[in-house]
Order: sequence, then C-alpha cells, then structure tokens
Amino acid sequence: MALTPPSTLSPSKVATFRDCGLAFRYSAIDRLPEAPTVAASRGTLVHAALERLLDLPADQRTVERALGCLRDAAAAFRTDDDFTGLALDQAGEARFLAEAEALVRRYFDLEDPTAVRPVGLEVRLEATVGGLRLRGVIDRLELGDDGELVVTDYKTGRAPSVQSEQARLGGVQFYAFLCEQALGVRPARIQLLHLAEPLAIVAVPTEQSTRALGRRVEAVWQAIERACSDEDFRPRPGRGCSWCSFAAYCPAMGGDPALAPGTGTEAPAPALVAS
Ligand code: SF4
Repeated sequence: MALTPPSTLSPSKVATFRDCGLAFRYSAIDRLPEAPTVAASRGTLVHAALERLLDLPADQRTVERALGCLRDAAAAFRTDDDFTGLALDQAGEARFLAEAEALVRRYFDLEDPTAVRPVGLEVRLEATVGGLRLRGVIDRLELGDDGELVVTDYKTGRAPSVQSEQARLGGVQFYAFLCEQALGVRPARIQLLHLAEPLAIVAVPTEQSTRALGRRVEAVWQAIERACSDEDFRPRPGRGCSWCSFAAYCPAMGGDPALAPGTGTEAPAPALVAS
C-alpha cells in the first residue's frame, strides 16, 4: 500500500529527505515524536531573544536590553516541551543559559541592530508551486539601505566548512524562492548570521538561482512521491545519525523498524533513495 506524501514541504524537511530517506519518512510521513536536543532548543531560545530585541525601537537595541530579552524569552521557554524534554539538572540548565547568552552577545559582533529596519520577524510564508505547498518561517525580513528587501536567517550551530557553505545557503535560497512566490518580490540579498563564530555569509539571489531552486524543489517532490508510491525510504547513515531521534528504529544503526509506533516499516537495505 502506497504511503501518503506530506501535504506541505519546508526547507528543513527537504534537507532531511536529502540527508536520509528513512529519517524523512519517520519525521514527515509517520510524524513520530522527536526528542528535543540541547543544540536545537538553545537555538530556539536565542531566536526568541533576538525576535524580542528586533521588535524594540531601534535605539533601544543594546546588549543590556538583548540580555533582558533573553531572560524574558527563557522564562517563557521554561514550560515549553523543547525545554522540559531536555530534563536538565541545575548545572546543565546554567550551562544551557550561559551558552545562549554567549550567542546573543556574539550577535553584536555581526551587525549593529540599531541600523536594522525589520518589516517582519518570524514571518510565515506559504506558496503553491506545481501542486506542492511550500511553507517556511523567515527569521527576519527587512529593508536594506536602498529600500530593497533582505532575508536574514540566524544560525546558532557551528559555522559551515567551505564545502558545505553552498549547501547551507541552499536553505536560505529556498526562503528567497518562497518570498518571490508568496510576495511577488525577489529579495535583493539573503544572509546567514552564524552567531557561534561569528560569521556572516551573504548571497544575492538571481532569477537564474531562484529558477534553479524551483526545479530542485520539484525534483525532490517527485522523488518523495516516488518513494511514497514504492514505500521505499532507505536509511542513509551520516553525520545526522548522532542526533537522530529514530536510531532505535533504524536498521542501519542496529535498530528495529518494527518498534516504530504504527509504521509497519520493513527493514530496507542501507542505501541512498534520492538526492
Ligand atoms: S539513524 Fe541515521 S541512517 Fe538511521 S534514520 Fe537516523 S539519520 Fe537515517
């Protein structure tokens, strides 16, 4: 019996499918619960703090106010499943908050927030392309010096190697594409702000790059539909295995697919389904 493809696709799901077909199936089709990780939850908290900061009048966006925003965001985050699920002890929680604070402080090495002119924070965009619904959340949409539209994405993990830089930009190109489809405007610039380094990576989307991205998204969608119709989502072991929530059900990791709740997954041979 064929599997039902997901009704929408986001950049992170596209990346998951490209990295590992089986992880994509468990996450996007079977919707198995995924345990929060310290890195992802820390990123969520830092994003929330920066959203609060950029929501302030420009002249109030100081380091002190940013740390206040972090404290407020942390208080709100305390009851969130992504925080409680970490089950941190007192020392772990102190480390978690200290690392989040270090990232917020480093943000100020990358740009002067008083000069940023946001027109949208955590902007949800949706567009339909060739029968496929795409959706994504843009961290920040702003006006550049000449009134042009700029897309900014904060990254709280390690900065990319030179080799993976383009792959990482692919995610933001996706947002540029989504922007063009949903708002009818192609952003003049897209930038990744890697807070841990700190490092800014900037790219200029062109008609050619957004058209190429559109073709890639359609190709991924066709591969997903094929994999659903063949029920063929194979594991692809790689770096992501170290934080994958599905290792217990993954044959490539010695896990048992039969343990995956409600999937009836049969153990496939470790191989790449699609890229
Ligand atoms: S453990 Fe690795 S190979 Fe297995 S599903 Fe997760 S990411 Fe894929």
